[in-house]
Amino acid sequence: MKNRVYNFAAGPSMLADKVLNELHEEFFNYHDSGMAVMEMSHRSKGYLEIFEDAKARLKRIMEIPDDYEIFFMHGGATAQFAAVPMNLLKKKADYIITGNFSRKAAQEASKYGEVNIVYDGKENDYSRIPSSEELSLSEDADYVHLCSNNTIYGTEWKKYPDTGTIPLIADMSSDILSRRIDVSDFGLIYAGAQKNIGIAGIAVVIIRKDLIIEADPMTPQIMDYALTLKNDSMLNTPSTYAIYVLGKVLKWIEEVGGIKEIERRNIEKAGLLYDYLDSQSFYQPHAEKDSRSLMNVTFRTANEELDAKFVSETAKLGLCNLKGHRLVKGIRASIYNAMPIEGVKKLVEFMDEFARENG
Ligand code: PMP
Repeated sequence: MKNRVYNFAAGPSMLADKVLNELHEEFFNYHDSGMAVMEMSHRSKGYLEIFEDAKARLKRIMEIPDDYEIFFMHGGATAQFAAVPMNLLKKKADYIITGNFSRKAAQEASKYGEVNIVYDGKENDYSRIPSSEELSLSEDADYVHLCSNNTIYGTEWKKYPDTGTIPLIADMSSDILSRRIDVSDFGLIYAGAQKNIGIAGIAVVIIRKDLIIEADPMTPQIMDYALTLKNDSMLNTPSTYAIYVLGKVLKWIEEVGGIKEIERRNIEKAGLLYDYLDSQSFYQPHAEKDSRSLMNVTFRTANEELDAKFVSETAKLGLCNLKGHRLVKGIRASIYNAMPIEGVKKLVEFMDEFARENG
């Protein structure tokens, strides 16, 4: 592909070349059907095969146990900020705030019931993940909610808290399928697809069957988990193309060796950046060492002018979208599954050159 850049955007973000090529090849004429996938009825045999294949691949790759359901829902992760409490918050829920999105999730939930903030890392500018001892979890919460990877701040849970019989709910929008996890540790996992598993338009929801209970009567049909199950995620027209792309991304993951290989690659890629950051003093990393994200690497130079110069010079070299989020400023390299190691190597080389020239 000519002029292809290394896109370090936080999401929507890179797709593997292999995935884009397959989408391209099948674009006008999907499997000799004479039509594009986006022209197909969601009830047609051809499309239902795509849909079932995506679900089966996700179940296989994540080793999702049989007592869980997989939903493809509308509205990205943000819709789940509301859907989770509308379906599951009967009395009280515990929320752990480690960044912007967990705060938004808690704010949304507080419209529907009592929200107990068990930790808020704002004093340390969300630069770390709390230890279990720092969490004052309730004994009678309907669930505990956390955000697995904080896209903006570049921190990630390494070991999830043990919540006993209280269901743990995780927003995995920015680290789903980046490393091995045990699905059975969670009551519910949700993720917007546009970072690690496809394009914008859907959220994947993985829910333990016993948590599919009667939703609050004011819940819109489209956000009701029991109705979603009853209609197999097709209560209305699903985001057909986004589900098709998800299937292609999952196929690519299986072809490269599954989640174990993806995790190995991610550790290697992030390691290059963090080892470099630890070897010098020109850049300061934002996240504390034991809380560092494999997906979003955040750091800054001595001042905002140099940060801006860094971003503009990298863009000229085809290393794009490295500007940090406005809440943290500085620089953020989002290195999701589809970012090749060559992109990270090129970035580290440039960082070193830039430090020598501007240090
Ligand atoms: N949670 C996390 C961790 C995110 O990174 C994002 C998006 N950047 C969201 C939630 C919101 O996702 P969406 O845009 O799919 O609603």
